[in-house]
Amino acid sequence: RKEANEKNLQEDNLRAPVVCVLGHVDHGKTKILDKLRRTNVQEGEVGGITQQIGATNVPAHGVQRQTHMVKGFDMSNLNFPGLLIIDTPGHESFSNLRSRGSSLCDIAILVVDITQGLEPQTVESIDLLKKRKTPFVVALNKVDRVFEWESNPAKDIREVIKLQKEPAKNDFDRRTKEIIQALNEQGLNAALFWENPNPRSYVSLVPTSAISGDGMGNLIAMVCDLCQQRLNKRLMFSEELQCTVLEVKTIQGHGTTIDVILVNGRLREGDTIILAGTEGPIVTQIRSLLLPKPLKEIRVKGQYDEFKEIPAAQGVKIAARDLEKAIAGLNLQVAYHDDEVDLLKDDVDREFKAAMRSIKVK
Ligand code: GDP
Repeated sequence: RKEANEKNLQEDNLRAPVVCVLGHVDHGKTKILDKLRRTNVQEGEVGGITQQIGATNVPAHGVQRQTHMVKGFDMSNLNFPGLLIIDTPGHESFSNLRSRGSSLCDIAILVVDITQGLEPQTVESIDLLKKRKTPFVVALNKVDRVFEWESNPAKDIREVIKLQKEPAKNDFDRRTKEIIQALNEQGLNAALFWENPNPRSYVSLVPTSAISGDGMGNLIAMVCDLCQQRLNKRLMFSEELQCTVLEVKTIQGHGTTIDVILVNGRLREGDTIILAGTEGPIVTQIRSLLLPKPLKEIRVKGQYDEFKEIPAAQGVKIAARDLEKAIAGLNLQVAYHDDEVDLLKDDVDREFKAAMRSIKVK
Protein backbone atom coordinates (compact mmCIF):
# COMPACT_ATOMS: atom_id res chain seq x y z
CA ARG A 1 0.00 0.00 0.00
CA LYS A 2 2.88 2.30 0.88
CA GLU A 3 4.48 1.64 -2.49
CA ALA A 4 1.29 2.47 -4.33
CA ASN A 5 1.10 5.68 -2.32
CA GLU A 6 4.64 6.69 -3.26
CA LYS A 7 3.77 6.16 -6.91
CA ASN A 8 0.68 8.23 -6.56
CA LEU A 9 2.59 11.26 -5.31
CA GLN A 10 2.53 13.97 -7.90
CA GLU A 11 5.59 16.17 -7.60
CA ASP A 12 4.32 18.92 -9.84
CA ASN A 13 0.87 18.88 -8.31
CA LEU A 14 0.96 20.18 -4.75
CA ARG A 15 -2.22 20.54 -2.75
CA ALA A 16 -2.97 23.45 -0.41
CA PRO A 17 -1.50 22.99 3.08
CA VAL A 18 -4.10 22.71 5.84
CA VAL A 19 -3.48 25.38 8.49
CA CYS A 20 -4.86 25.25 12.04
CA VAL A 21 -4.99 28.05 14.62
CA LEU A 22 -4.47 27.00 18.25
CA GLY A 23 -3.94 28.64 21.63
CA HIS A 24 -5.38 29.62 24.99
CA VAL A 25 -8.90 31.02 25.12
CA ASP A 26 -9.10 34.81 24.59
CA HIS A 27 -5.59 35.08 23.15
CA GLY A 28 -7.12 35.99 19.78
CA LYS A 29 -7.60 32.84 17.65
CA THR A 30 -11.00 33.90 16.33
CA LYS A 31 -9.87 37.44 15.65
CA ILE A 32 -6.80 36.22 13.75
CA LEU A 33 -9.01 33.91 11.69
CA ASP A 34 -11.37 36.81 10.95
CA LYS A 35 -8.44 38.89 9.83
CA LEU A 36 -7.10 36.10 7.62
CA ARG A 37 -10.57 35.68 6.16
CA ARG A 38 -11.02 39.43 5.93
CA THR A 39 -14.63 38.99 7.02
CA ASN A 40 -14.65 42.50 8.45
CA VAL A 41 -14.08 43.83 4.95
CA GLN A 42 -17.35 44.07 3.08
CA GLU A 43 -15.82 43.64 -0.35
CA GLY A 44 -16.85 40.04 -0.73
CA GLU A 45 -13.95 38.02 -1.95
CA VAL A 46 -10.82 40.05 -1.48
CA GLY A 47 -8.01 38.56 -3.53
CA GLY A 48 -10.04 35.47 -4.32
CA ILE A 49 -10.31 34.45 -0.65
CA THR A 50 -13.37 32.22 -0.38
CA GLN A 51 -15.33 30.66 2.43
CA GLN A 52 -15.39 26.93 2.28
CA ILE A 53 -17.06 24.41 4.49
CA GLY A 54 -15.32 24.72 7.86
CA ALA A 55 -12.36 26.34 6.20
CA THR A 56 -11.17 29.39 4.28
CA ASN A 57 -9.34 29.09 1.01
CA VAL A 58 -6.62 31.72 0.51
CA PRO A 59 -5.30 31.25 -3.05
CA ALA A 60 -1.79 32.29 -4.08
CA HIS A 61 -2.94 35.71 -5.32
CA GLY A 62 -4.75 36.22 -2.00
CA VAL A 63 -1.46 35.49 -0.23
CA GLN A 64 0.23 37.99 -2.52
CA ARG A 65 -2.24 40.75 -1.74
CA GLN A 66 -1.93 40.24 1.98
CA THR A 67 1.87 40.09 2.05
CA HIS A 68 2.87 42.91 -0.29
CA MET A 69 4.47 44.84 2.60
CA VAL A 70 6.71 41.95 3.66
CA LYS A 71 10.35 42.58 2.79
CA GLY A 72 12.19 39.72 1.12
CA PHE A 73 9.17 37.47 0.74
CA ASP A 74 9.36 36.00 -2.74
CA MET A 75 5.99 34.87 -4.04
CA SER A 76 7.55 33.24 -7.06
CA ASN A 77 8.96 30.60 -4.71
CA LEU A 78 5.49 29.57 -3.70
CA ASN A 79 4.89 26.22 -5.35
CA PHE A 80 1.59 25.29 -3.70
CA PRO A 81 -1.81 26.71 -4.65
CA GLY A 82 -2.50 28.77 -1.51
CA LEU A 83 -3.60 27.95 2.04
CA LEU A 84 -6.60 26.13 3.46
CA ILE A 85 -7.23 27.58 6.92
CA ILE A 86 -9.46 25.58 9.27
CA ASP A 87 -12.18 27.79 10.78
CA THR A 88 -12.99 25.97 14.00
CA PRO A 89 -10.35 26.88 16.57
CA GLY A 90 -12.11 25.99 19.80
CA HIS A 91 -14.28 23.11 18.76
CA GLU A 92 -14.30 21.05 21.96
CA SER A 93 -15.50 17.63 20.83
CA PHE A 94 -13.49 17.88 17.69
CA SER A 95 -10.22 18.78 19.38
CA ASN A 96 -10.77 15.91 21.80
CA LEU A 97 -11.00 13.39 19.01
CA ARG A 98 -8.43 15.12 16.88
CA SER A 99 -5.85 15.12 19.62
CA ARG A 100 -5.41 11.40 19.04
CA GLY A 101 -2.82 12.29 16.49
CA SER A 102 -4.80 12.50 13.31
CA SER A 103 -2.75 14.34 10.76
CA LEU A 104 -5.42 16.81 9.72
CA CYS A 105 -3.18 19.87 10.09
CA ASP A 106 -0.08 20.26 8.00
CA ILE A 107 0.99 23.40 9.79
CA ALA A 108 -0.22 25.47 12.74
CA ILE A 109 -0.36 28.99 14.09
CA LEU A 110 -0.01 29.02 17.88
CA VAL A 111 -1.51 32.23 19.22
CA VAL A 112 0.06 33.70 22.37
CA ASP A 113 -1.21 36.96 23.88
CA ILE A 114 1.97 38.99 24.38
CA THR A 115 0.48 40.57 27.52
CA GLN A 116 -0.46 37.21 29.07
CA GLY A 117 2.26 34.80 28.03
CA LEU A 118 1.88 31.01 28.15
CA GLU A 119 -1.28 29.67 29.79
CA PRO A 120 -2.59 26.11 30.34
CA GLN A 121 -4.17 25.70 26.89
CA THR A 122 -1.04 27.15 25.26
CA VAL A 123 0.99 24.40 26.90
CA GLU A 124 -1.59 21.78 25.89
CA SER A 125 -1.42 22.99 22.30
CA ILE A 126 2.39 22.83 22.34
CA ASP A 127 2.25 19.24 23.62
CA LEU A 128 -0.19 18.33 20.85
CA LEU A 129 1.96 19.92 18.14
CA LYS A 130 5.08 18.20 19.44
CA LYS A 131 3.34 14.85 19.56
CA ARG A 132 2.13 15.24 15.98
CA LYS A 133 5.43 16.80 14.86
CA THR A 134 3.44 19.60 13.23
CA PRO A 135 5.59 22.57 12.20
CA PHE A 136 4.23 25.82 13.65
CA VAL A 137 4.81 29.53 14.09
CA VAL A 138 3.89 31.57 17.14
CA ALA A 139 1.72 34.65 16.60
CA LEU A 140 2.78 37.00 19.41
CA ASN A 141 -0.64 38.58 19.37
CA LYS A 142 -2.10 41.81 20.80
CA VAL A 143 1.16 43.64 20.17
CA ASP A 144 -0.99 46.82 19.95
CA ARG A 145 -1.36 46.51 23.74
CA VAL A 146 2.36 47.06 24.24
CA PHE A 147 2.94 50.31 26.18
CA GLU A 148 2.64 53.34 23.83
CA TRP A 149 2.63 51.11 20.73
CA GLU A 150 2.16 52.88 17.42
CA SER A 151 0.45 50.74 14.79
CA ASN A 152 1.23 50.62 11.11
CA PRO A 153 -0.27 47.59 9.38
CA ALA A 154 0.87 48.84 5.95
CA LYS A 155 4.51 48.24 6.92
CA ASP A 156 6.60 45.15 7.54
CA ILE A 157 6.47 44.40 11.29
CA ARG A 158 10.28 44.64 11.52
CA GLU A 159 10.05 48.26 10.43
CA VAL A 160 7.08 48.95 12.69
CA ILE A 161 9.18 47.79 15.64
CA LYS A 162 12.17 49.88 14.56
CA LEU A 163 9.92 52.95 14.43
CA GLN A 164 8.61 52.52 18.00
CA LYS A 165 9.75 54.96 20.67
CA GLU A 166 11.94 53.76 23.55
CA PRO A 167 9.17 52.90 26.06
CA ALA A 168 7.33 50.73 23.51
CA LYS A 169 10.56 49.06 22.40
CA ASN A 170 11.54 48.28 25.99
CA ASP A 171 8.12 46.91 26.87
CA PHE A 172 8.07 44.79 23.71
CA ASP A 173 11.58 43.43 24.37
CA ARG A 174 10.84 42.57 27.97
CA ARG A 175 7.59 40.74 27.18
CA THR A 176 9.12 38.90 24.24
CA LYS A 177 12.08 37.73 26.34
CA GLU A 178 9.75 36.41 29.03
CA ILE A 179 7.74 34.45 26.46
CA ILE A 180 10.87 33.03 24.83
CA GLN A 181 12.01 31.90 28.25
CA ALA A 182 8.64 30.32 28.99
CA LEU A 183 8.82 28.49 25.65
CA ASN A 184 12.33 27.30 26.55
CA GLU A 185 10.87 25.86 29.73
CA GLN A 186 8.50 23.86 27.51
CA GLY A 187 11.52 22.43 25.73
CA LEU A 188 11.25 24.71 22.70
CA ASN A 189 13.93 26.90 21.20
CA ALA A 190 12.28 30.11 20.08
CA ALA A 191 13.27 33.41 18.49
CA LEU A 192 11.71 36.41 16.76
CA PHE A 193 11.54 35.30 13.13
CA TRP A 194 14.18 37.75 11.91
CA GLU A 195 16.59 36.57 14.62
CA ASN A 196 15.93 32.86 14.12
CA PRO A 197 19.33 31.13 13.81
CA ASN A 198 17.88 27.87 12.49
CA PRO A 199 14.23 27.53 11.41
CA ARG A 200 14.50 23.73 11.67
CA SER A 201 15.22 23.75 15.39
CA TYR A 202 13.85 27.15 16.51
CA VAL A 203 10.21 28.18 16.52
CA SER A 204 9.69 31.60 14.93
CA LEU A 205 7.72 34.30 16.72
CA VAL A 206 5.77 36.81 14.62
CA PRO A 207 4.42 39.87 16.47
CA THR A 208 0.82 40.47 15.36
CA SER A 209 -2.26 42.47 16.17
CA ALA A 210 -5.49 40.98 14.94
CA ILE A 211 -7.15 44.30 15.77
CA SER A 212 -4.85 46.80 14.03
CA GLY A 213 -3.46 44.34 11.48
CA ASP A 214 0.18 44.85 12.44
CA GLY A 215 2.29 41.87 11.42
CA MET A 216 -0.56 39.94 9.77
CA GLY A 217 1.21 39.99 6.39
CA ASN A 218 4.38 38.74 8.06
CA LEU A 219 2.40 35.95 9.72
CA ILE A 220 1.04 34.71 6.39
CA ALA A 221 4.48 34.99 4.77
CA MET A 222 6.02 33.03 7.65
CA VAL A 223 3.43 30.27 7.34
CA CYS A 224 4.17 30.04 3.61
CA ASP A 225 7.94 29.99 4.20
CA LEU A 226 7.54 27.20 6.73
CA CYS A 227 5.39 25.18 4.31
CA GLN A 228 8.02 25.70 1.67
CA GLN A 229 10.85 24.58 3.97
CA ARG A 230 9.19 21.68 5.68
CA LEU A 231 6.25 20.32 3.72
CA ASN A 232 7.18 19.91 0.08
CA LYS A 233 6.97 16.13 0.08
CA ARG A 234 3.93 16.06 2.31
CA LEU A 235 2.02 18.43 0.02
CA MET A 236 2.37 16.32 -3.10
CA PHE A 237 -1.14 15.48 -4.14
CA SER A 238 -1.86 11.81 -3.54
CA GLU A 239 -4.87 9.81 -4.66
CA GLU A 240 -4.92 8.06 -1.29
CA LEU A 241 -7.94 9.45 0.49
CA GLN A 242 -7.46 11.38 3.71
CA CYS A 243 -10.70 12.95 4.87
CA THR A 244 -11.89 14.01 8.34
CA VAL A 245 -15.47 14.74 9.42
CA LEU A 246 -15.69 18.18 11.03
CA GLU A 247 -19.39 18.51 11.79
CA VAL A 248 -22.78 16.91 11.36
CA LYS A 249 -25.51 19.40 10.43
CA THR A 250 -29.08 19.45 9.21
CA ILE A 251 -29.54 21.76 6.23
CA GLN A 252 -32.80 22.78 4.66
CA GLY A 253 -33.31 21.00 1.36
CA HIS A 254 -30.46 18.53 1.99
CA GLY A 255 -31.40 16.77 5.26
CA THR A 256 -28.56 15.71 7.53
CA THR A 257 -25.18 16.51 5.97
CA ILE A 258 -21.57 16.17 7.07
CA ASP A 259 -18.91 18.83 6.72
CA VAL A 260 -15.54 17.28 5.96
CA ILE A 261 -12.00 18.42 5.33
CA LEU A 262 -10.62 16.56 2.35
CA VAL A 263 -6.85 16.63 2.97
CA ASN A 264 -5.80 14.27 0.19
CA GLY A 265 -7.34 12.32 -2.67
CA ARG A 266 -10.74 13.13 -4.18
CA LEU A 267 -14.43 12.58 -3.58
CA ARG A 268 -17.00 11.83 -6.29
CA GLU A 269 -20.75 11.89 -6.40
CA GLY A 270 -22.02 8.35 -5.90
CA ASP A 271 -18.95 7.19 -3.91
CA THR A 272 -19.67 4.65 -1.20
CA ILE A 273 -18.49 6.24 2.05
CA ILE A 274 -17.92 4.64 5.43
CA LEU A 275 -17.78 6.68 8.63
CA ALA A 276 -18.27 6.31 12.37
CA GLY A 277 -21.77 6.53 13.84
CA THR A 278 -23.08 6.32 17.39
CA GLU A 279 -24.53 2.90 16.59
CA GLY A 280 -21.65 1.53 14.56
CA PRO A 281 -20.10 2.35 11.18
CA ILE A 282 -22.39 4.01 8.62
CA VAL A 283 -22.21 2.91 4.97
CA THR A 284 -23.90 5.22 2.47
CA GLN A 285 -23.55 6.80 -0.98
CA ILE A 286 -22.67 10.43 -1.62
CA ARG A 287 -25.82 12.06 -2.99
CA SER A 288 -24.27 15.46 -3.51
CA LEU A 289 -20.93 17.16 -3.01
CA LEU A 290 -21.49 20.77 -2.05
CA LEU A 291 -19.38 23.91 -1.85
CA PRO A 292 -20.73 27.30 -0.80
CA LYS A 293 -21.58 29.65 -3.64
CA PRO A 294 -19.45 32.74 -4.01
CA LEU A 295 -20.82 35.44 -1.69
CA LYS A 296 -22.41 37.54 -4.42
CA GLU A 297 -24.59 34.73 -5.73
CA ILE A 298 -25.93 33.39 -2.45
CA ARG A 299 -29.12 35.41 -2.48
CA VAL A 300 -29.98 34.54 -6.05
CA LYS A 301 -30.22 30.74 -5.90
CA GLY A 302 -29.47 28.18 -3.22
CA GLN A 303 -26.52 28.54 -0.89
CA TYR A 304 -24.48 25.77 -2.46
CA ASP A 305 -23.08 24.63 -5.78
CA GLU A 306 -23.06 20.90 -6.54
CA PHE A 307 -19.98 19.14 -7.92
CA LYS A 308 -19.44 15.76 -9.60
CA GLU A 309 -15.92 15.51 -8.23
CA ILE A 310 -13.76 17.47 -5.77
CA PRO A 311 -9.97 17.11 -5.33
CA ALA A 312 -7.99 17.90 -2.15
CA ALA A 313 -7.39 20.04 -0.23
CA GLN A 314 -10.81 21.53 0.42
CA GLY A 315 -13.62 21.82 2.91
CA VAL A 316 -16.69 20.06 1.48
CA LYS A 317 -20.28 19.41 2.52
CA ILE A 318 -21.61 15.92 1.79
CA ALA A 319 -25.31 15.13 1.52
CA ALA A 320 -26.27 11.47 1.81
CA ARG A 321 -28.82 9.21 3.47
CA ASP A 322 -28.39 7.82 6.97
CA LEU A 323 -26.07 10.51 8.31
CA GLU A 324 -28.25 11.30 11.36
CA LYS A 325 -26.03 9.28 13.73
CA ALA A 326 -22.68 10.30 12.21
CA ILE A 327 -19.91 11.38 14.61
CA ALA A 328 -17.58 14.32 14.00
CA GLY A 329 -13.82 14.24 14.48
CA LEU A 330 -12.95 10.96 12.79
CA ASN A 331 -11.86 9.85 9.35
CA LEU A 332 -14.14 9.04 6.47
CA GLN A 333 -13.29 6.20 4.06
CA VAL A 334 -14.35 5.44 0.50
CA ALA A 335 -14.90 1.89 -0.77
CA TYR A 336 -13.97 1.67 -4.44
CA HIS A 337 -15.05 -2.00 -4.64
CA ASP A 338 -17.86 -3.79 -2.83
CA ASP A 339 -15.46 -6.23 -1.21
CA GLU A 340 -13.65 -3.37 0.56
CA VAL A 341 -16.72 -2.36 2.56
CA ASP A 342 -16.36 -4.84 5.43
CA LEU A 343 -12.65 -4.16 5.81
CA LEU A 344 -13.20 -0.41 5.94
CA LYS A 345 -16.06 -0.83 8.42
CA ASP A 346 -13.58 -2.62 10.68
CA ASP A 347 -11.05 0.22 10.22
CA VAL A 348 -13.66 2.84 11.08
CA ASP A 349 -14.86 0.86 14.09
CA ARG A 350 -11.31 0.43 15.37
CA GLU A 351 -10.59 4.15 15.05
CA PHE A 352 -13.86 5.01 16.83
CA LYS A 353 -13.10 2.68 19.77
CA ALA A 354 -9.56 3.99 20.10
CA ALA A 355 -10.92 7.56 20.15
CA MET A 356 -13.45 6.69 22.86
CA ARG A 357 -10.71 5.10 24.98
CA SER A 358 -8.45 8.13 24.65
CA ILE A 359 -11.26 10.46 25.75
CA LYS A 360 -12.04 8.31 28.80
CA VAL A 361 -8.36 8.36 29.79
CA LYS A 362 -8.48 12.17 29.78
P1 GDP B 1 -10.08 33.34 21.18
O1 GDP B 1 -10.83 32.91 22.40
O2 GDP B 1 -8.64 32.89 21.24
O3 GDP B 1 -10.74 32.98 19.88
O4 GDP B 1 -9.98 34.94 21.27
P2 GDP B 1 -10.80 36.06 20.46
O5 GDP B 1 -10.34 36.17 19.08
O6 GDP B 1 -12.24 35.86 20.72
O7 GDP B 1 -10.28 37.36 21.22
C1 GDP B 1 -10.52 37.57 22.61
C2 GDP B 1 -10.61 39.05 22.88
O8 GDP B 1 -9.36 39.67 22.60
C3 GDP B 1 -11.64 39.77 22.02
O9 GDP B 1 -12.24 40.76 22.79
C4 GDP B 1 -10.82 40.36 20.90
O10 GDP B 1 -11.40 41.52 20.36
C5 GDP B 1 -9.52 40.68 21.62
N1 GDP B 1 -8.35 40.63 20.73
C6 GDP B 1 -8.01 39.64 19.87
N2 GDP B 1 -6.89 39.93 19.21
C7 GDP B 1 -6.50 41.16 19.65
C8 GDP B 1 -5.40 42.02 19.35
O11 GDP B 1 -4.53 41.73 18.53
N3 GDP B 1 -5.34 43.20 20.02
C9 GDP B 1 -6.26 43.56 20.97
N4 GDP B 1 -6.12 44.73 21.58
N5 GDP B 1 -7.31 42.78 21.25
C10 GDP B 1 -7.43 41.59 20.62
